[in-house]
Amino acid sequence: MKIVMMGVQGSGKGTQSKMLAEKLKLPHISTGDLFRANISQGTDLGRKAQEYTNSGRLVPDALVIDMVKDRVARDDCKDGFLLDGFPRSAVQLAAVEYLFPIDRAMLLELDDATAIERLGGRSECPKCGILYGANRKPKASGKCDECGGPLKERSDDKDIDAIKQRLAAYHAEIETLVKYYEWKGALRRVNADATVEQVLEGVLTAIKS
Ligand code: AMP
Repeated sequence: MKIVMMGVQGSGKGTQSKMLAEKLKLPHISTGDLFRANISQGTDLGRKAQEYTNSGRLVPDALVIDMVKDRVARDDCKDGFLLDGFPRSAVQLAAVEYLFPIDRAMLLELDDATAIERLGGRSECPKCGILYGANRKPKASGKCDECGGPLKERSDDKDIDAIKQRLAAYHAEIETLVKYYEWKGALRRVNADATVEQVLEGVLTAIKS
């Protein structure tokens, strides 16, 4: 099964994608994570992407599409995969539907005010990759539940202007995707204003429907 996860920043999309991928035994492909990994490793792609990710702008389509195409060509994706943060534009959508048509497009719904509120204070464990936020707070402040290591704030979450720019970009781009997947009959909407467990339950039920 090929699944796309959609949802405004702060909707819990990253957390839900990880949990869902584990449950369904599918690789979780997050374009945001791939860019962050490339940036921290100082690769050529990372250098090209950094100026966009730092200011909350979308990375040019050609760069993202090539990156995802390479990732999906790997052996672990032959039975399906879960895309998180991709496609995000009409061009990316056209590429994805041409290269590997999607079976289910999940839309985690959350209003902007709640999203902004949730985005303040998001952090992650650089070692385990676990995301913490309004829906999942670390048991000990600033420390990862799994490894006890120090958490770091996600740098692109710090700047409120960058957050607003990302929300505006999200709304501008998501409309076409939602319309397309609705027309295709692949769209499933899930209310994201609930606990992590409730949302996951909703997502699993919606995927099967
Ligand atoms: P995310 O963690 O999904 O919010 O992604 C962080 C940043 O990576 C975004 O603000 C963009 O600059 C870039 N990015 C991630 N996915 C895409 C995509 N599909 N298209 C363009 N840029 C992306």
